[in-house]
Amino acid sequence: MSETLLINNRWQASGDGNTRPVINPAYNRPIRDIAEASAADIDAAVMAAQVAFPRWASTSGRERAALMHKAMDIFRAQYLDACARVLTQENGKPLNDSFKEVRYTADVIDFYADEARRITGSHFAGDMGASHSFVLKQPLGVVAAILPWNFPVDLLAWKIGPGLAAGCTFVVKPSEEAPLSVLLLVQAFLDAGLPEGVLNVVTGGGAVGAALVDHPGIDKVAFTGSVETGVKIAQTAAKTMKRTTLELGGSAPCIIFADADLEAAVKGALRRCYSHTGQICISVNRIFVQESIFEAYVERFRDLVTRLTIAADGLQEPNADMGPMINAAAVEKVRQHVQDATAQGGRVVMGGEVPQAEKFSTGGFYYAPTVIVDVTPEMRVMREETFGPVAPIAPFRTFDEAIQLANSTPYGLAAYVYTRSLDTAFHAARGLRCGGVGINVNDITDIRGPFGGMGLSGIGRELGEPGLESYLETKHIRLGYGPINGL
Ligand code: NAD
Repeated sequence: MSETLLINNRWQASGDGNTRPVINPAYNRPIRDIAEASAADIDAAVMAAQVAFPRWASTSGRERAALMHKAMDIFRAQYLDACARVLTQENGKPLNDSFKEVRYTADVIDFYADEARRITGSHFAGDMGASHSFVLKQPLGVVAAILPWNFPVDLLAWKIGPGLAAGCTFVVKPSEEAPLSVLLLVQAFLDAGLPEGVLNVVTGGGAVGAALVDHPGIDKVAFTGSVETGVKIAQTAAKTMKRTTLELGGSAPCIIFADADLEAAVKGALRRCYSHTGQICISVNRIFVQESIFEAYVERFRDLVTRLTIAADGLQEPNADMGPMINAAAVEKVRQHVQDATAQGGRVVMGGEVPQAEKFSTGGFYYAPTVIVDVTPEMRVMREETFGPVAPIAPFRTFDEAIQLANSTPYGLAAYVYTRSLDTAFHAARGLRCGGVGINVNDITDIRGPFGGMGLSGIGRELGEPGLESYLETKHIRLGYGPINGL
């Protein structure tokens, strides 16, 4: 039942028998137990990945690509449906959003499978004497992939897609809140014939992640999660110079200039505020609207919020705009942020409470979509990651003021700009301190483009070319040669 550790292609329970339940946030009820990996299990998983590494690293890109494509064919045919359903059960997102996530997952892995065949190096004539230089790209070793609960399957693909293509081996640590969907993705690789030890899984809580980061057999930590955990990982990894990719939290601003298409700007920000109940790293956290259209914007925004649908259970209402939050602590954090805002003069014009309808008396974790005006930069909703369905909306006068307000947090993941002026768009995009800017769009993700943060939002990039590069080491080979005999 709790055989959720994968070591050398064998599913097994924890060596010391410890387990923990995975909770369905729509009911606050356990779905099933997972193994809590012991220190010995973690050692065994890392060892398996270390032993598998040289052989996997020396397979051809063509072989790795074929296996990854086969795994995705199997995933789509046999596991995708179940994976989406269990994802909704464990993290609450409405079923259609889960399908979106798992389909994108397969796309990302197929994309990087093709890239496996394009990893090359370079060479050049030496600068000093008779020599020639070769620059090799080699897989960097054993990777610990540590995952959050909000996009567990997709964010695993962002790591094992490029990592397996590069020739790295893995120990995966899914989030204790949402590990079950991840297991189905991994199973597709086993079915496709992935060699023993290339992909290992250790389930459990934060201590399991911390032990992996500290393990001398790990060469790189690829982490997506909170800033708090990311800082701890950076500190531990630095002790042994482990490579890190840290994709952390954000507090994305959305700037609406007066010349914007108002309807598009309302709908775009609205979806990015409340999708996955605001629990997305690139969720819109702060909306800044130019003074002359402020009233009209807020009115239309409120109007559309009243039409949002909230699923008590995302399996029952697959098309809903929002579902439950992940746990009681998440709801409590939102409650505190809203309370902090109102205590400082913020005005809640929508929501600000647990939704009242009968269908929400399931024992699950809910919070109504909330809109706050009269907000100031000192409020927690304006400077921390709320990670919930809250939209604080503030007016601004000038371009400079908007950029200054947007850049006023230590985060720097995503920002959004709505304007019809190319000049405004380009100046804003250059001036915003963040890893990705969406102009007249509410998503900064594209498989071929880099994704990642500045400041507290992290280090490194996933997706695109940098996403692959971060699983490769660069080696310079300098070959000296003598004169040609007889010349
Ligand atoms: P979290 O930091 O609580 O947990 C993430 C993972 O780290 C879990 O698997 C957890 O068990 C593990 N962990 C906990 N303590 C650890 C430690 N000391 N050492 C190693 N591992 C440890 O984050 P979460 O609540 O699962 O995810 C939500 C956060 O993730 C939000 O802040 C969100 O913004 C962020 N996020 C960022 C991105 C991005 O791409 N930048 C994407 C999605 C989510």
